[in-house]
Amino acid sequence: MTSFRIDIDRTLCSGFGSCEELAPAALEVDASGLATARMAQSDDPAVLEAASSCPMGAISVFDAATGEQLA
Ligand code: SF4
Repeated sequence: MTSFRIDIDRTLCSGFGSCEELAPAALEVDASGLATARMAQSDDPAVLEAASSCPMGAISVFDAATGEQLA
């Protein structure tokens, strides 16, 4: 199973929350109104869709084993 490393550029995030809706197990909009990863790594492939859907391009997803950028 691929494990995903999630990187969120909070300087780009505008807090709309579509990432949280798509991958609620891995991503959330925190009290400051910006997205954050619930954990540094996730096995949830929904993070790929969340990254693709972010209107700000704030979410990057990497293969945790190889470092390859996946989204
Ligand atoms: S979808 Fe992008 S801009 Fe919207 S809350 Fe998530 S990281 Fe921020």
